[in-house]
Amino acid sequence: MLENQGVWVFIEVNDGKIEGVSLELLGAGRKLADKLEVPLAGVMLGEGVMPLANEVIYAGADQVYVVDHPVLKDYRTESFMKGVCILAEKYKPEIFLYGATPNGKDLASAVATDLSTGLTADTTMLDVDVEKRLLEASRPAFGGNIMATILCKKHRPQMATVRPKVMKALEPDTGRKGVIIEEELELREEDMRTKVIKIVKDVTKKASLAEAHVIVAGGKGMGDIQGFQLIHELAEVIGASVGGTRDVVEAGWLKHDQQVGQTGETVTPKIYFAIGISGAIQHVEGMKNSELIIAINKDPNAPIFDVATYGIVGDALEIVPKLIKQFKEL
Ligand code: FAD
Repeated sequence: MLENQGVWVFIEVNDGKIEGVSLELLGAGRKLADKLEVPLAGVMLGEGVMPLANEVIYAGADQVYVVDHPVLKDYRTESFMKGVCILAEKYKPEIFLYGATPNGKDLASAVATDLSTGLTADTTMLDVDVEKRLLEASRPAFGGNIMATILCKKHRPQMATVRPKVMKALEPDTGRKGVIIEEELELREEDMRTKVIKIVKDVTKKASLAEAHVIVAGGKGMGDIQGFQLIHELAEVIGASVGGTRDVVEAGWLKHDQQVGQTGETVTPKIYFAIGISGAIQHVEGMKNSELIIAINKDPNAPIFDVATYGIVGDALEIVPKLIKQFKEL
């Protein structure tokens, strides 16, 4: 008989701030917890993280388990896994969600191994079968050709990592009340086999696509890699990040982490320029929630115009240089 109860969300803290994906997961977790009629809890580990506990309540949690300890100053698989597993074994959550960030993925797989349970990675949809008390975690599979719903029938907790920017965070409600549970765990530096010597920030990279406010994305309509330079130029002039379709990534015009879509990044910028992009469903899946979409395409019937806020029908190779000139003059 399974005795596990409650929905948990791992709250990732970086540079003294809660990661956006953790707040999104509290929004998604709230729905699951309400359906199952169980509490929603945040689990937050780190050093000096206690002041952030209320934010977790405001974002939808009923409880927050906090482990504030010097050994948890920087993320390490070993120390965080130990802390999380002690809590999970003590309180026995039914469902446990993590952001599909580098640290979230690393931690979730280590915790799953230690707790001998399953893990569905990189999910984009979550639901529950209330009667069977099963988490239905769905993700694109076979190169995006199908959506696979993965169930963990025997083991608990049921765990999933969830892509950033796919779930919606709730509006913070500073009137919400919840319980903050401070856990004192015996974690000793001398037991840790890894030491963090130095953290070196990657200053060469622009804001990641998922975090970008403005994205200029190009497609095969730019003709060739030279034509695609116009996308980079426009992005440079307006301080945007560059994205593209799978076809341009496959053509070698862009790196894989710049691909937007079902099998690439999901983005929600304030402005998304879709230039020379047809608007295939697999691309649209990754950008349709952008606040404002400006599409340029020479085909007036291109499906991208169905999701665009503003559409310009014409040759991108003529229009983009004009835009660059105009923006430079501003
Ligand atoms: P095309 O479809 O070739 O479109 C080019 C467009 O440019 C056309 O609309 C054309 O009218 C226009 N054009 C041409 N010349 C000009 C010009 N001079 N000026 C203006 N417009 C011009 N795609 C993704 O993007 N992301 C994904 O994650 C993704 N995942 C996939 C997963 C699977 C399983 C499959 C099967 C496909 C996936 N695809 C994905 C590919 C997707 O189906 C499309 O093939 C791809 O998005 C098309 O890229 P495109 O718009 O650059 O090229």
